[in-house]
Amino acid sequence: MSLIPVSDLIEKLRERGVRSVALQFPAGLARQAPGTAAALREAGFWVIVSGDPCYGACDLALDALACADVLVHFGHAPVEERPDVLYEPVRFDFDVNALEKALPLLTARRIGLVTTVQHVHLLGAMTAFLREHGVEAVVAPGDGRTPSPGQVLGCNFAAARATGADEILFVGTGVFHPVGIRLATRARVVALDPYTREAQEVDADRLVRRRAAVMEKARGAASIGIIVSTKSGQQRVDLARRLVALSDKAVLVAMREVSPAEMLDLGFGAYVNTACPRLAYDDQVRFPVPVLTPPEFEILCRARAWDDYAIDEYLAP
Ligand code: SF4
Repeated sequence: MSLIPVSDLIEKLRERGVRSVALQFPAGLARQAPGTAAALREAGFWVIVSGDPCYGACDLALDALACADVLVHFGHAPVEERPDVLYEPVRFDFDVNALEKALPLLTARRIGLVTTVQHVHLLGAMTAFLREHGVEAVVAPGDGRTPSPGQVLGCNFAAARATGADEILFVGTGVFHPVGIRLATRARVVALDPYTREAQEVDADRLVRRRAAVMEKARGAASIGIIVSTKSGQQRVDLARRLVALSDKAVLVAMREVSPAEMLDLGFGAYVNTACPRLAYDDQVRFPVPVLTPPEFEILCRARAWDDYAIDEYLAP
């Protein structure tokens, strides 16, 4: 089944007057590549598909773009605007009546409402459903990395914070986003998976305990690599420079893919990750040594108090 509205895309490309097109699909949409490429070829465009892995609009296929007039990036909203990149977010629908499963867990009459980019087109319908059930839902704008109001990323919870609500409903899949919202806002957070229709109140304590153990392991490291990403939308160079100044043991390390093998080869006793914030939280089990987030390294260097433990967010400058 095609999830990509190709005829709309062809129209946009013709309006731009481009002849050659690079296509980039995130992991979950990669199977759309052959059909989309064939349709564009048939419409007269020269096409190249990026075969590198991609998890966000923070990782644009600039190598493929170098061979084409424009890059079409599917599945995500922009984290930065570029004239030579066309973003094509892909909508995933669900029945908003699924929100009834969250209702018994909500304790406030006024809540914040957030979701991921695939579902932002349903925020109006979700807000109307909640209103009908006596709950006022606030949908707020985020920052430049989350252009749609009510949209959160795994590295950016600005739209949740901006609601100013003490209770927030996250509608989407997985637990990482709602745990991040809990840590970023300190609000009570209810998460609803609209497909399984499971709702739960989110607890961030387990994550924080796990991270405290990683920090303890990193404390004795003789050398620390501060990872700076070379990906287009993950380059927090100023932050990395500030972190390296906190410790004589720290050295900047430029990496494209933050991989266990390269970490082992370089031989640092611990790393601090300024690339995609999710890596340190999600992938620690894969890494051979402790990998800290920037706020965790600040705590280790006594530049931040433990009480001020924060989720690592990548906010727009
Ligand atoms: S930095 Fe990570 S969490 Fe943020 S948009 Fe990119 S892949 Fe997603």
